Amino acid sequence: MGKFELMALPYAPDALEPVISKETIAFHHGKHLAGYVNNLNGLLEGSGFEEATLEEIVCKAEGGMLNNAGQIMNHELYFAQFSGNPKSAPTGQLAEAIAREFGSFEAFKEEFQKKGATLFGSGWVWLSADKDGKLVITQEPNAANPIQKGLKPLLTFDVWEHAYYLDYQNRRPDHLAALWQIVNWEVIEERYSK
Ligand code: MN
Repeated sequence: MGKFELMALPYAPDALEPVISKETIAFHHGKHLAGYVNNLNGLLEGSGFEEATLEEIVCKAEGGMLNNAGQIMNHELYFAQFSGNPKSAPTGQLAEAIAREFGSFEAFKEEFQKKGATLFGSGWVWLSADKDGKLVITQEPNAANPIQKGLKPLLTFDVWEHAYYLDYQNRRPDHLAALWQIVNWEVIEERYSK
């Protein structure tokens, strides 16, 4: 067993259906994410990062180490934010920050989805907070993570084709629109409060 381990999903593989099928979960978590974990473990020896945390690798490494570590961090945040029985909307301080920054929860979702739909190629769309708690939506290519810019990542949609192709084929916007049904805002609020 390597230093880094594949995260356990906090729900059954079919819990997110029909938004995300158990087949997509089987490949996305069991093959793609597992592959990034195996790759990173294989790159550690002699790298100088043998004792580093995942966050340190994401902020300091380059090349394959950076890409695989970034994908591990991104997918851990991604899979942990969903539930088959989610808190369907934010409340409290996060709800207030969303209203302040984007006008309304509906306007936020529309902008977030649009940024996901228009990200060219593979990558991730993120909601993050800066050091003052101000919210920002960013498009990040490939394996990039907002912590590389000093931001705190809160919510992310994966727009790599492997995240949706089995269920939605080319219809990325439909996939992104459906994901709101399974985002557990309790998890996002907890990230924002830390
Ligand atoms: Mn992915």
